[in-house]
Amino acid sequence: MTETLELSHWIGGEKIAGSRPGESLNPSDTRQVVARTPKGGAAEVDQAVQAARAAFGPWADASPEVRSDILDRAGTLLMERREAVGRLLSREEGKTLAEGIGETARAARILKFFAGEALRLHGQNLASTRPGVEIQTYRQPVGVFGLITPWNFPIAIPAWKIAPAIAFGNTVVIKPAGPTPATAEALIAILHEAGLPGGVVNMVIGDGDVGRAIVAHPDVDGISFTGSQKVGAGVAEGAMKRQARVQLEMGGKNPLIVLDDADLERAVAIALDGSFFATGQRCTASSRLIVQDGVHDRFVAALAEKVEALRVGDALDPTTQMGPAVTEAQRQTAYDYIDIARDGGGRVLAGGERLSLDKPGWYVQPTLIVDTQADARINTEEVFGPVASTIRVASYEEALAVANGVEFGLSAGIVTQSLKHARDFQRRARAGMTMVNLATAGVDYHVPFGGTKKSSYGPREQGFAAADFYTLTKTSYSAG
Ligand code: NAD
Repeated sequence: MTETLELSHWIGGEKIAGSRPGESLNPSDTRQVVARTPKGGAAEVDQAVQAARAAFGPWADASPEVRSDILDRAGTLLMERREAVGRLLSREEGKTLAEGIGETARAARILKFFAGEALRLHGQNLASTRPGVEIQTYRQPVGVFGLITPWNFPIAIPAWKIAPAIAFGNTVVIKPAGPTPATAEALIAILHEAGLPGGVVNMVIGDGDVGRAIVAHPDVDGISFTGSQKVGAGVAEGAMKRQARVQLEMGGKNPLIVLDDADLERAVAIALDGSFFATGQRCTASSRLIVQDGVHDRFVAALAEKVEALRVGDALDPTTQMGPAVTEAQRQTAYDYIDIARDGGGRVLAGGERLSLDKPGWYVQPTLIVDTQADARINTEEVFGPVASTIRVASYEEALAVANGVEFGLSAGIVTQSLKHARDFQRRARAGMTMVNLATAGVDYHVPFGGTKKSSYGPREQGFAAADFYTLTKTSYSAG
C-alpha cells in the first residue's frame, strides 16, 4: 500500500479540505507521502468550536443508550478493521506492524469500555446535617472539550480522550499531531460511520497554531493535552487564564531499578521491552536503568547482547523488531543525546552509530550507554527514542534516591524478589504508576493513568477515573 491519502478537517460532520499544503511521510521510507493535509488555524478552530457548541445541547440530552450504542458500534468497526488501520498507523508512525495492530485493537477496546461507562454514571445520596434535608450529587456533561494529542499513540490517545468525553455527553474539537493525522482521521471517520451526529467530534489538522487557538478559544470549557512538558506548561498557563478545566499528560524519565536478587533473565527481558519497544517512543519508556553493584556487570552484558540482536527495519516488514524514529527531528534528538551521554563520560555498550539501511528512513540503532552519572543530562532529560542509560548503585536506598531524583514522575519500576523492597518501592517511588517485576511501559486501558511532578497535571485519564474530568459534579439540596 503506497497510495497517498487526501485528508480533510472534520467540522460539523462534514469534511472540509481546501488546499492541502501539509503532508505526513512514511518514516520507514521517506519517499512515500502517506497523506496530504490541509493546514488549519484560528478560523477553522472557531468553526469547529461553533459546531461543537451547536451539537452540545442535543448530545448532552441524548439517552446514554444512544451514546453507548454509537461507541460500541465504532469499537466493533475498528476491531474488524484493526489490520488495515494498524497498517496505516505503522506506515505513518513507524512502530512495528504488531505494535500498530495492537494499538488499534486497544483503541477499539477503549471505545467499547466507554460504551459501558456511558450507562454507569452514578452519583451519591448523602446525609445532611439538617433534619428533613436531602443531598444528592450527580454528574452532568461539561460542554466543549479541546483535545490536543501527540504522535506516539496516534489512535489510542485520541480514543482515550474522545471516548469518555462523548460517552458522558460532551462534544469535542480534536487536534491530531503533525506527523500522524491520517491515523487519527481513520478513527474520526469510523465514529461517523457508526452513527455519530455531526458536530459531536470535530477535528482540525495543523501545527501548534491550531493547539494555541483551541487553548485560547473562550467557548472551549476544558482541555486535555498529551505531549511534551514544555508545550504542556504553556497549555496550562493559557487554560488557567480563562479558568478552563485542564488535564496534562507529559514527559517521563522513567527509572527501572534492578536489584542484586533479581532474576537476571527476567530483568533483561523487562528492560529490553521497557527501553526499546515502540522505538523507545513511549512516555512510559524505561529510559534510566538503575542497577545494583552485584548484578550490574552481568546485567549490562546480557542486555547489550539482546540490544545488538534487535532487528531494526521497515515497520511493515513482519520480521522487524524495532521501527524507525517518527521524524528526522526525533532521530536527531536521539543522536544528540548519544553524543551528550558520551561527552558526559558514558560508555556506549551497544549501538550508538549512525544507521543506514537499503531505503531512506529515520532509522536509529538501539543504544545502551553504561557508566553514566545520575545527574548527567542523559539521565535527567527525556530523549524519547531508543536510548537507555545505566547507573550503578550500591544499595536499594541509593537506587530509590536516584529513581526519585528527577523532575518527572510518570512510571517507575523495580525488578526484585524481595517483597520488602517491592512494597517499600510502591510506597516511596515518586511516580503516578509503579511496576514490580514489569516494565515501566505497558499499562491497562481501564484503570487510572497518570503521573506526578512534571509528568502530569489534573485528574487522571482513562478508565472510571476519566469521569472526574469529563463531567461536572453537582450537589443538590432539597427539603420536602
Ligand atoms: P508536543 O508537545 O510537541 O506536541 C503535542 C501536541 O501539541 C501536538 O499536537 C502539537 O501540534 C501540539 N502543540 C504544539 N505546540 C503547541 C502550542 N503552543 N499550544 C498547543 N498545542 C501545541 O509532543 P509530541 O512530540 O507530539 O509528543 C511527544 C511527547 O509527548 C513526549 O514528551 C512524551 O513523553 C509525551 N507523551 C506523554 C504521554 C503521557 O501520557 N504522559 C503519552 C504520550 C506522549
